[in-house]
Order: sequence, then structure tokens, then C-alpha cells
Amino acid sequence: MSMRTEGLSINLATVRQQWNLVRHGITCVDPWRDQIAAVGLDTAVKAIKDNGMCVSGICRGGMFPAADAAGRQTAIDDNKRAVDEAAALGADCLVLVAGGLPQGSRDIGAARQMVMDGMAALLPHARASEVPLALEPLHPMYAGDRACVNTLKQALDMAGQLGDDVGVAIDVYHLWWDPELEAQIARAGREKRILGYHICDWLVPTKDLLLDRGMPGDGVIDLPRIRGWIEKAGYKGPTEIEIFSAKDWWTRPGDEVLKTCVERYAATFSDGAGKTGETR
Ligand code: ZN
Repeated sequence: MSMRTEGLSINLATVRQQWNLVRHGITCVDPWRDQIAAVGLDTAVKAIKDNGMCVSGICRGGMFPAADAAGRQTAIDDNKRAVDEAAALGADCLVLVAGGLPQGSRDIGAARQMVMDGMAALLPHARASEVPLALEPLHPMYAGDRACVNTLKQALDMAGQLGDDVGVAIDVYHLWWDPELEAQIARAGREKRILGYHICDWLVPTKDLLLDRGMPGDGVIDLPRIRGWIEKAGYKGPTEIEIFSAKDWWTRPGDEVLKTCVERYAATFSDGAGKTGETR
């Protein structure tokens, strides 16, 4: 309990069953919209306020591509509601996952344009609500079904076309392999676009494309090195642990998962973080 939790946020995908994190010293969370819906927005807002918690983001909006105009409009309308939820919770940002190809399509370029158009349509409402939009590039293995935005460079290029106030969420799980990552993180810092920073680990072997993320320290991502780049880029927001793990961490008691998150957070960045070098 005395572990240092300053700067730590828990993405509530990590512990889907549990809201009260305060006893672990965790004061910052990123809830998913289905979790908010399950308890009701008012209850979620009250739980956050009563516990004096910060909300590092809301997961997630986006999923803009659709086969026809009506489908794309439905997505935009849903994203407006996500903005409203983020505003009610006082979230630092709304995390956007682009969406993949519409059913039957092989045109990834068109899907990417739909993401641009969807974000452009959402922006006025987000600005009026003072909710920053954070586009999160996902690993290219999800390009077909989840996200046709796959590198930080691509996300920054899109954000740049949309406006100075459009940001990105940097999730090491999706981006750790990219030879341009260091340079693009530096660019994101210069452009003041880093709105979120998510960590977990890449397991070798990875047994499931979606639901086999590792606890920090259990995989091959050089977390201290990337954190060094993030800090050098001027990011001062929370470090959010986000783990989808159907066969491992999701099967364990929430208290054990949270305790492990806190321990690994402290151990992984114990040398003052920003230093590059050996993880362990
Ligand atoms: Zn993420």
C-alpha cells in the first residue's frame, strides 16, 4: 500500500469487475463506455467525484468507417454521446480507435478517409464540450477489423490536418516495434499532441491477437526506454496500464491484478524512469 502510485492510471479494461480502486492508492482511471453504461453515467460521475479521482481518458470513441452514409452518421452521433460522457466525467480526453474496413470493402484508403471525415464532423462538438480528441494508432494486425490508423506518424499526420488541438494516445503495445517511434514521439511532443500514454507488455509468444496482453515486465517491450522518450517529449500526464488478458489477468481476483499493476509500475520505472537501459 505504501508503493508509489503517483502518475499511475488504470484502464478499467484491466479489471473489468471492480470500480473501487482507492484502497490500492490508485487515483486515476480510464473507464470504458460499456462500464459507464452498466452503472449509469450519473453513478459513474458520482463515484469519480466522491473518491476524488481523475479520469485520464474515456475508452472509446471512433469506429468511423461504415458501408453507407447512414452508418457513418450513426457512428458520428454515437461519438457525440461519447464526448458528452467524457465531459460529464471531466476526462482528460476521449480516446478514438479509428475503425477498420467496412464489411465487404478492400479499400483501406477509403476507410482512412472516413476516419478523417468522421473526426472532422465530431470536432465542433468536442471543441464546444472542451473534450480533447486522442487518436490512438493500433498495431497493424488490427487494420482489417479495428483500426486502419496504425503508426504514430500516420496518426500525427491526420491530427495535423484536423487541427492544432487534435491529439494522440501513445500505446506501447501497438507501437513498440516501429523503427520511427522515437522520432515520432519527439514530433508528437513538439506538436503538443500527446494526450494519453498506455502501457502493458508484448508477450512472446502472443497467443491471441486481442486478448493476450502482458503485465509490464513480462514481455519484450523496453518500457523504461520508451518512457524516456515520452518524458523527453514533455508529457507529464499519467501512465495508464491497459491489459486485455482473457486467459490470465482477467481470470484473477481484481485485488491481485491491481496490486501487481502497482508493484510493476514501481519496479519498471524505479530508476527515475527516463533513463534508458536494462529493464531488469
Ligand atoms: Zn490503449
